[in-house]
Amino acid sequence: MVSAILLAMLVVCATAMAVGAVELVRNGKPRATIVAPSEGPPSYAAEVLQRYIERMSGAQLPIVPDGRKVKGAKVIIRVRKGAAKLDGFRLKSSKDEVTIEASVPRGCVYGTYALLEELGCRFYGPEPLGVVIPKKKNLSVRVGLDILKEPAFENRLPSFGGPELNACWGFNFTGYSKDPKRQEFVKRIGLKTWRWGHIWPQLIEYQFFADGRPPVKMDYSDKQDWLPADEKGVRRPNPSWDAPAGQSLCFSNPDAFKWFVENAVNWVFTNCPDADYVSMWSADTADLSLCQCEKCKQRGWTPTDWYIHIHNEIWRALKARGFKGVFGWIAYHGSEEPPQQVKLLEDGREMDLLYAPRPRGASMHGPITNDHSVNTAYRENIQRWRKYLSDFKGTMTVFEYYFDLVLLGHLPAGRTFLIPKPEDMKEEMRFYLSQGFNGFFDCDPPSGSFFPDPLRKWIYRKLLWDVNLDIEAAKRDFFQNYYGPAAKIVREVREEVERLMFEDIKWPMWSPAHYADRPIKRLRELETRLDEAIAKVGNDEILRQRIEVMKLWVRYCALAKESEYHVKITRDREKGRQVEQSIRKLFEENKDFLVKTGLLTEGDVRFLAEQVTNYNLSVYFGGK
Ligand SMILES: [Zn+2]
Repeated sequence: MVSAILLAMLVVCATAMAVGAVELVRNGKPRATIVAPSEGPPSYAAEVLQRYIERMSGAQLPIVPDGRKVKGAKVIIRVRKGAAKLDGFRLKSSKDEVTIEASVPRGCVYGTYALLEELGCRFYGPEPLGVVIPKKKNLSVRVGLDILKEPAFENRLPSFGGPELNACWGFNFTGYSKDPKRQEFVKRIGLKTWRWGHIWPQLIEYQFFADGRPPVKMDYSDKQDWLPADEKGVRRPNPSWDAPAGQSLCFSNPDAFKWFVENAVNWVFTNCPDADYVSMWSADTADLSLCQCEKCKQRGWTPTDWYIHIHNEIWRALKARGFKGVFGWIAYHGSEEPPQQVKLLEDGREMDLLYAPRPRGASMHGPITNDHSVNTAYRENIQRWRKYLSDFKGTMTVFEYYFDLVLLGHLPAGRTFLIPKPEDMKEEMRFYLSQGFNGFFDCDPPSGSFFPDPLRKWIYRKLLWDVNLDIEAAKRDFFQNYYGPAAKIVREVREEVERLMFEDIKWPMWSPAHYADRPIKRLRELETRLDEAIAKVGNDEILRQRIEVMKLWVRYCALAKESEYHVKITRDREKGRQVEQSIRKLFEENKDFLVKTGLLTEGDVRFLAEQVTNYNLSVYFGGK
């Protein structure tokens, strides 16, 4: 009798479920069909959906081409004009039907990942530790779902990962490749491609050819008048660290100028003829050294005037030769300030400005909106560019340095991946949007690093889509899904570590030895607290590894703090050196484990073990 009532109740519940939800999988068996066009990004999206639903439940949902009649529940993936702005998407569900729609084909891919998140998946970082794929025998989508997502930044360029990962993470560009197979794959996902860099030095060192054959070393022996003149009037190359053959030519010399422009065009047609976006930069020096001859000086141009003048001519020639992409320049170091005299060709139509405030030190002084003098300087410079670009017909992309350990590696909170704070990124992105920027790139060597967990880089990517992101809600989502039953302890530990890392070690009045090292002691205690967290996750290997990585990070933080202690309190170079050696050892000994987690690449571990420690040794402790 009791069991009959129970059974009746279960039937009622099951019916209620079916009314309020579109059933995709029941008991590990498919209950729905994916309907999508058989080509292009929507078809790729259908495969992504099929693959992850199978990983979750074991059920493989059939995919049928659109236009065919389908019985029962469906997930429809399609392009519909007006569905969402830019490459955004709309995700809706009604009785028996889930639809993923976008105005631009690749939007269907983002919409599919959003549906997978609705089903419980998370794509925080690289596999294996960075993703959450819950195992479920039953999968359904509640009726009445209506999610519209449109990206805050139209152009989103990644610094890490291949096309598949780039699309999964909401970027809409991927690095250009000449490999036809990869090109086809990128097209299928619907991503745009780009290629950029400090190309000028190559254009001086080598001769490139229109037919794309390998370049040859340029011989200037009978072209001495092409070489730039130094301040004494002597014509010779002007090398720098990344431009051994020289940074520039005598650009007022018509033959040298013409050759250089042609060489640049040939470079594009050799390396990336069909990229969607190419940006060419001069040498990577703080001050671009240009020719000092009378004819060059006569023009009274700044380095940026020369840069834009040459850029215009390359662009004109590229278009004449049929190049279809966008052609960008960079405001960086030598070309940081806008030109004084030279105007952009056709008001910069199909051009892109990359704004790279590198000397701001990767947000180490807080958001660009605060009153720190470098931030003020960069805000003023943006206003000068905006004035210069008042009739601009092109686009503007931010070239930020979040997580850049080349810039942050000497700061305890920087080298431990705590700069910038999520709130600072949010503040900055809102500012950049208000200034008319519609693209974003983050230069973040070592760029494969998601240490100690992918939280910050995940928030960064979410902000590219939504500058009003509720950061606290995002953190809750992350800790719950990523650390499971250990979420509370890990979050407490992580946040206390963060406070301690930002706390300045100060010289106390009387007994420095007693008090100044307290944060270090506390950090060591926090490391042992994570053993409690490990005990909570039982034999879940993935969760255990995530906490093991966190433990290593807390140990690293304690050492980084100890290094700071020797810099500021003991001034003991020998002890400081020992601490840096311990950091090196920590990464070397755990290299295999860290690489296996996917949260650091081998190169990144080396970067932390060598570049970062060497930098600190030479800056603070007098040698390697
Ligand atoms: Zn000259």
